[in-house]
Amino acid sequence: MLRTVKIMYHQGKQYIPDLRTVKVPGIFRGRPEISLERVDEKALEDCCPTGAISINPVAIDLGRCTFCGECSRLFPNKIKFTTDFKMSSNERSRLIIKEGINVPITLNPDIIREEIHKLFGGSLKLRQVSAAGDNSCEWELNAAGNVNFDMSRYGIEFVASPRHADGIVITGPISRNMAEPLQITFDAIPSPKIIILVGTDAISGGIFEGSPAIDRRFIEENHIDLYIPGNPVHPLAFINGVADLMGIK
Ligand code: SF4
Repeated sequence: MLRTVKIMYHQGKQYIPDLRTVKVPGIFRGRPEISLERVDEKALEDCCPTGAISINPVAIDLGRCTFCGECSRLFPNKIKFTTDFKMSSNERSRLIIKEGINVPITLNPDIIREEIHKLFGGSLKLRQVSAAGDNSCEWELNAAGNVNFDMSRYGIEFVASPRHADGIVITGPISRNMAEPLQITFDAIPSPKIIILVGTDAISGGIFEGSPAIDRRFIEENHIDLYIPGNPVHPLAFINGVADLMGIK
């Protein structure tokens, strides 16, 4: 008994008490900040492997950024990555960070569908489809359910069948082979249903953007309720983004 108490004391808390305010270590790359310092903008644009950087003014599209850190390494006074993991939005344009405008990313409350707060405010069951994902975002989504992050404290859970789900979580760029299974899964979810894109690959195709091996028609033809950038997405980014969509304070 004494030994057990000693072990528990040594281990400390095995969970994060407050997922909404917890800080993550400095090694994590979250929302970048772009200063107004003048640099060779063409070189800055060219250093990005995914075309996430645009110029005049300098901006980073987090829906295309792989968070490789190369821009920050080459232009440290221009671009800095903060540890802010709250990078989700329901509006695609809000994922674009512009120079000199360093404010938190938020959801647009005016375009959250009424039924989301009404029906899913206290409980949201999700079916996850890895549409040619590389298993990185998928691992982080698994972690979101462990005892440390414990997303079920907000009623957020993954379910095995789309018939039991309120929405779909998509990872990966959606290969041609996965386009039909994705559509079949989505069709099996009862309405109203939500769509959440998790990670750079799902949001834009990432490094596969423009490849003939992917099929993005599902994204183009359906309303997306939430975009969660990251490569991979941090469990805290996922949980906080979904909690914001649900209207949890
Ligand atoms: S961190 Fe993002 S914006 Fe910067 S070079 Fe890498 S992919 Fe491009």
